[in-house]
Amino acid sequence: MDSEQFGKRSKAKSTENKKFLQQLKRVNWKTVDDFFHRAHEEVFAETDCLACANCCKTTSPIFYPVDIDRASQFLKMKPGDFVSKYLTIDSDDDYVLKKSPCVFLGADNYCSIYEARPKACREYPHTNRKKMVQIMDLTYKNTLVCPAVLEMVERMKLNKEFILK
Ligand code: SF4
Ligand code: SF4
Repeated sequence: MDSEQFGKRSKAKSTENKKFLQQLKRVNWKTVDDFFHRAHEEVFAETDCLACANCCKTTSPIFYPVDIDRASQFLKMKPGDFVSKYLTIDSDDDYVLKKSPCVFLGADNYCSIYEARPKACREYPHTNRKKMVQIMDLTYKNTLVCPAVLEMVERMKLNKEFILK
């Protein structure tokens, strides 16, 4: 699915998916985790992130102090220079990238600071986390960014354990 098709599909499913993920907050968290973790493995086994990179193109990770230290060291820069060159502070008071696509994303969709990328990039899209029910709002937002998350949610809706009223 190309990015235009994904954009159309994710928007078309947006209202339904928001409601579905809200309702999952009422389901036993272990049942939800079991499904998401299994779907995460299955969907990523079929997904080529290098052909996508939509997360790096459209959203910014949060850079915590440890991320700034690691990335600036990798680039042989002073942390303060790294911050002033690449980062800004968002409405939640977190350091994020000044602009999208990410400045470290290459034309080939490789990350030029891959070994030193922020923790948020390593963990994106967070679908193998414990207690997924606590991040349903974030997961909904990620159905609009990440084709793999959209696919996991679509598979979940077909599972009889999750057919909710
Ligand atoms: S740092 Fe690397 S992995 Fe993270 S958003 Fe930028 S290009 Fe993507
Ligand atoms: S948006 Fe999802 S599928 Fe695309 S590169 Fe990021 S993690 Fe991979």
